[in-house]
Amino acid sequence: MSPRTLAIRENILGANSRQADSNRKRLDGSRAVMLNVLSSPGSGKTSLILRAIDRLKARAGIAVIEGDVASSIDADRVRLAGVPAVQINTGGGCHLDALMVGKALDELDLGHIDLIFVENVGNLVCTADFDLGAHKNVAVLSVPEGDDKPFKYPVVFAGADAVVVNKIDVAPYFDFKLDGFPRIIGGMNPAAKVFAVSARTGEGLDGWFSWIEETLKQRSGI
Ligand code: MG
Repeated sequence: MSPRTLAIRENILGANSRQADSNRKRLDGSRAVMLNVLSSPGSGKTSLILRAIDRLKARAGIAVIEGDVASSIDADRVRLAGVPAVQINTGGGCHLDALMVGKALDELDLGHIDLIFVENVGNLVCTADFDLGAHKNVAVLSVPEGDDKPFKYPVVFAGADAVVVNKIDVAPYFDFKLDGFPRIIGGMNPAAKVFAVSARTGEGLDGWFSWIEETLKQRSGI
C-alpha cells in the first residue's frame, strides 16, 4: 500500500471509529445491547437471529438492522416475526459502517428496545475492519464451509466474542471436525464462547440463547 493510500485508509477508519463510539454511547444511554453478526453468505445468520427473536421477544424489546448488498428479503422475514427491522442496502459495498448503523438507529424507537441484532453483509474480509458500535461481535460459520475457515479469515474469528457453528445436522456428510473445533478457536481467541447448533432442527440452540440472555443481563439488567 502506498503512503497516500495508507493515509486515506487511516482517515476512513478513524472517522468510522469515532462514529462507532458515538453509536455505542447512544445505545448505552438507552441501555440497549447491540450484537454485530458476521459470516459468509449462506451460513445462517438470519435463521439464527429469527430463532433468538422467537425465544426472547416475550421478555425483551428486539430490533434488527439488516445489511445487504441488495433486496429486503431478510428484513421482510424479520418483520414477519413481529419485530422492527431497518434494511440497509449497501448498493455493492461489502460491509456496513458505523455511519450507516447510526442512521438506522435514528429509525428505531430506542426507548423500547433492549437488544439489537446487526446482520452484517455476508463477507468475512471487509466487515472485519469496521467497528459499528456494537457491544459484542458474533462470528457464524456453517459445517459445509469447513473447519479451516478461522485460519483463512483470522481477523473476524480472533475478534469475535462468540463463534457459532451452524448446520451441525449435516455434519455426517462433511469432514468438519466438531470435537476439535473449540480448540481451533481457543488457539486464536481463548475468550470466545463456541456454540455448535442447527438453526434448522434447534439442536444446541439453548447455549446460544443463554449467551445472549447473559449479555443482556450484564449490560441492560434484564
Ligand atoms: Mg441473511
